[in-house]
Amino acid sequence: MPAFEDVRSAAEILSGHALRTPVRSSPIIDAALGATVFFKCENLQRGGAFKFRGAFHTLSKLPQEQLQRGVAAYSSGNHAQAVALAAKLLGSSATIVMPHDAPAVKVRLTASHGARIIRYDRYREDRIAITRELAEKQGLAIVPPFDHADVIAGQGTAALELFEEVGDLDALLMPLGGGGLLAGSLLVSEKLRPGCRVYGVEPLAGNDGQQSLRRGVRVRIDTPQTIADGAQTQQLGELSFPIIQRAVADILTVTDDELLDATRSLGGLLECPVEPTGCLGYAGALSLRDALRGKRVGVIVSGGNADAIAPVPPRQ
Ligand SMILES: *Cc1c(COP(=O)(O)O)cnc(C)c1O
Repeated sequence: MPAFEDVRSAAEILSGHALRTPVRSSPIIDAALGATVFFKCENLQRGGAFKFRGAFHTLSKLPQEQLQRGVAAYSSGNHAQAVALAAKLLGSSATIVMPHDAPAVKVRLTASHGARIIRYDRYREDRIAITRELAEKQGLAIVPPFDHADVIAGQGTAALELFEEVGDLDALLMPLGGGGLLAGSLLVSEKLRPGCRVYGVEPLAGNDGQQSLRRGVRVRIDTPQTIADGAQTQQLGELSFPIIQRAVADILTVTDDELLDATRSLGGLLECPVEPTGCLGYAGALSLRDALRGKRVGVIVSGGNADAIAPVPPRQ
């Protein structure tokens, strides 16, 4: 089980490799919410998402012989790109299993780091089985997207930087897929700011996390249809779930319409590219507006690798 100390040591390993991403704010959003909101811009991380943190941390802990044989990953995009980039930086090679309907920009960026890409059908084929078979045949180490102690510890470093930079927060919201980002962040908040209420935000169509929290067991769902392609996971991780169960304030859901609105306004207001999955935390903050009034609120913007979405002003 990963612990706070693992996040601290991940931060040391990542120093000089991952970017210390900016924390931005928007007077328009602060006025609209009646709160002070700090956005941790992981959409500006290397590879366009926080996933670089977990991937680089995990790869850098592998033995040199393993890096020489190579690594493998399955992902709809951001983890793929992160593993491909980390492999390139560490002199390894990456094989990535990606769905046929992954956003074109994510496939292109992954290929640009020199990774070998294998496509599969997200709704019919088992990506884990495909990856395992490849890994076994070729001696590759699988780097899972969320359910791995080193991945969780790496992802936690974004929240660590946010708390270091802005101090006390009353609430912290972020996207929830398999729970690597949320579990890592909770290890940090539990230790440094136990009074901060931390929320995971899921697309309504893929609310396995919320169902799991309510029922006390990891609920598995069919691959959800949602514009939040980075949160199309079917089930929380074995490692992430107990941490989430122990420390999360709640798991919220937003509809794809709410998420699309949030996505269309956030990129312009923060003046940087955002992708729908990356805006789940902000969409959750909008839905929690009354409870957040007068509070200091952190929001992790988790990624910015979207196929183009036309920008429009926020709704009144
Ligand atoms: C992977 C990803 C998520 C979900 O992260 P988990 O650790 O699986 O919960 C959220 N946002 C973006 C942009 C992602 O790439």
